[in-house]
Amino acid sequence: MLQAGAFHADALPMQGTSRAMMISRAVLRQVEPGNTANCAHCGAPIKFAARMQLRQVIANVYQEGNWIRVEHYHADCYDEAGQPYGEAAEKP
Ligand SMILES: [Zn+2]
Repeated sequence: MLQAGAFHADALPMQGTSRAMMISRAVLRQVEPGNTANCAHCGAPIKFAARMQLRQVIANVYQEGNWIRVEHYHADCYDEAGQPYGEAAEKP
């Protein structure tokens, strides 16, 4: 069986795949003032910077249909990490 390769830290044994509705997904958002999240890839804070239009990727992580956490990434870091939760959907 082929693995995506990027799930090393959280790999769980695969069970039935019938409940596949709630899956991990990622969206691309503007970084807003007061944002305090750290990047899950490089560990650095994702800081708002005036006039820079920075973007972050916010991923909702599900395992076996259950939401377990949110991860934040710098937009560039998410690409560098190999888009572990799929291509980030753009949200205006
Ligand atoms: Zn980063």
